[in-house]
Amino acid sequence: QAKEAGRNCYMFYSKEMNEMASAQLAMENDLRNALKNDEFTLYYQPKMNRTGKVTGAEALIRWMHPQKGFISPAEFIPVAEKSDLIIEIGQWVREQVCQQLLIWKESSFPPIKVSVNVAAKEFTKHVVLQHLIDMFLKYDIDQHLLELEITEGTLMSSVDNGNMDYKVIKNMNVGLSIDDFGTGYCSLGYLKSYPIDTLKIDKSFIDNVTTNECDASITKTIIAMAHSLNMKVVAEGVETRAQHNFLLENNCDQIQGYFYNRPQEVKHFEEFVLSSSKLKVDMPVEESV
Ligand code: C2E
Ligand code: MG
Ligand code: MG
Ligand code: MG
Repeated sequence: QAKEAGRNCYMFYSKEMNEMASAQLAMENDLRNALKNDEFTLYYQPKMNRTGKVTGAEALIRWMHPQKGFISPAEFIPVAEKSDLIIEIGQWVREQVCQQLLIWKESSFPPIKVSVNVAAKEFTKHVVLQHLIDMFLKYDIDQHLLELEITEGTLMSSVDNGNMDYKVIKNMNVGLSIDDFGTGYCSLGYLKSYPIDTLKIDKSFIDNVTTNECDASITKTIIAMAHSLNMKVVAEGVETRAQHNFLLENNCDQIQGYFYNRPQEVKHFEEFVLSSSKLKVDMPVEESV
């Protein structure tokens, strides 16, 4: 009887696992088609400086599946990361951004630093550095206007593997930012071994920053630490005026979040940039960044 139950159990898990594996395979297939059929677009979400001007943006990938409609990157990026598709997707994203930076440069649009998310595998497979070299040969852009966002986990695995690519990338004037900072297991020692320009405080601390004393302390501490290490700080996921005010009062350099704007297609982003350069913010403001 026990044997019987054990066998059922085994069959149950194996069925679940098969379903998961085939869902993964189906999505990988769809992602391959998406690359071929141009189903991705990039949205841009502004990063505002302390005077309420757009000085940066994060490029975020969007996928409109022909049958299933919009699929969130939170859903398909992890699938792409398990296969090697993330490498092609990453290259697509960076090429789009370089093209956009060139368009803006040639039309004298205000200079905006654009960050792209880079997955761990792109570094472990050493494809980012060479791809950036290719892109800069192809597109004559201001290299300092490109920034890479990586997570603490990506940073750690690279340090542990002695990956020196970041140092070369830094010498190419490309920025490096730690995304979702505070949620990973990065020991502070790692922060000094790499040329990091920016820490992005994770949204989970920002959510309750005005109501939870722990989150407020953590946020203030991250800002103070970043500044004393000569890094800039961005707060992500800022949704309310109260959060925004708290962050400005505590010297956060840049604000990103729905409070100002959602990620948008290029055309709307450009309109926002132009209108924000005339915008007056009724905030305690001062020049910086
Ligand atoms: P992330 O890099 O931490 O990006 C921030 C996410 O928070 C974005 O979700 C953005 O739309 C969302 N967000 C920004 N402000 C707010 C806010 O005020 N409230 C709320 N609720 N959300 C806000 P999105 O675009 O769905 O992307 C999710 C994640 O997928 C990203 O997290 C990133 O890890 C990954 N991702 C997106 N695009 C790419 C890409 O091109 N390459 C790679 N490797 N990963 C990407
Ligand atoms: Mg990011
Ligand atoms: Mg983030
Ligand atoms: Mg996040």
